Amino acid sequence: MENLSDYKEISDMIKASGGDAFKRCFQCGLCDIVCPWNKVRSFSMRKIVREAAFGFTDIESEELWLCTTCGKCPTHCPRDVQQIESGIALRKIATEYDILPASAAPIRGISGSLTGEGNPFNEERKKRADWAKELGVKEFDEETELLYFTGCYFSYDPRLKKAAIATVKILKKAEVNFGILGQKESCCGESIRKTGNEQLFKKLAYQNINTFVENGVKKILVSSPHCYHTFKNEYPELMGNFEVIHISEYLWKLLDGKKLKLQKEYNKKVTYHDPCYLGRHNGIYSQPRQILKQIHGLELIEMEETMENSLCCGGGGGRIWMETPKGERFSDIRLQQAINAGAEVLVTACPYCIANFEDSKLTVKGGEQIEIKELAEIIERVI
Ligand code: SF4
Ligand code: SF4
Repeated sequence: MENLSDYKEISDMIKASGGDAFKRCFQCGLCDIVCPWNKVRSFSMRKIVREAAFGFTDIESEELWLCTTCGKCPTHCPRDVQQIESGIALRKIATEYDILPASAAPIRGISGSLTGEGNPFNEERKKRADWAKELGVKEFDEETELLYFTGCYFSYDPRLKKAAIATVKILKKAEVNFGILGQKESCCGESIRKTGNEQLFKKLAYQNINTFVENGVKKILVSSPHCYHTFKNEYPELMGNFEVIHISEYLWKLLDGKKLKLQKEYNKKVTYHDPCYLGRHNGIYSQPRQILKQIHGLELIEMEETMENSLCCGGGGGRIWMETPKGERFSDIRLQQAINAGAEVLVTACPYCIANFEDSKLTVKGGEQIEIKELAEIIERVI
């Protein structure tokens, strides 16, 4: 920050960016009561909203980068302050001025990688479909009915690749006419948008929309709730209108339509974690549970804080790319809740949740006694 006129400009931008939404807040504090951060440290969305209403936000503050966009406080806010959108508006200003605190600094590298290679790992674009090499997955063409949009984590992350492979095996068993786009696929852009980098989000989104249109894609299957959310709710803003289906919905359809049969037993106590972007943001709670309940031998048990009250894993809003100190990781608490419930397996349907839970497993006491599974991995075992 060079001089006072910069401060004035930022102050005006802050006032303008949250606009009326910030001013609607009457400081009831409900957002702070429900926010998962207050389980591990003090954090006040109420304070952020208050300061922004007057243009007094400290744009260099680490606090601006804490919100995981879990969706809990907007569902409780009596004044529709739209804390997530308001918080992202503040991040946009910080991003525009390139004022990132130490905790958010990794986002610079992530943005570079997304710009250059279309993924956050700085992996080569041409290796995007390597995970599918041995599986005989066809490249999407005009004759293909369903695009399996694999997503970055399922394409490159060694742990999540296993879930992508399980998904492909299921689709093949059900004789689904599907294909992938391989290196023509780019990151969906959902999480980088939540860090305030609107420009990069649009670049990635337009790349995907053009690719979908050029290849005649109409129906898209996704494993990540983040891809699901942005394709379904955000791409239409950019004239990208496609039928989008999450793997949990699709598996339910395949089972319901008798295209898949659950033949084997899975004799374990299983608990299901609702990912924020599947549950609270998109209302998908029942299908994953219905699927699991149909599996012979599987006992489905619930943890505390389920469904609408599900505890965030900590990975949304770009937090997956930021370091969260030990003692402040929501996924540690969630894993402990699963262990306390007596689960032998914690199953979920989101790459960020899986990545965070696998990390927590290494450090939480008793972590070695519980398995982390993606929904498709369990189904693939029993068909
Ligand atoms: S819940 Fe809404 S009205 Fe209440 S303090 Fe938070 S933002 Fe303000
Ligand atoms: S969206 Fe979730 S993490 Fe963000 S402030 Fe609200 S409750 Fe906290």
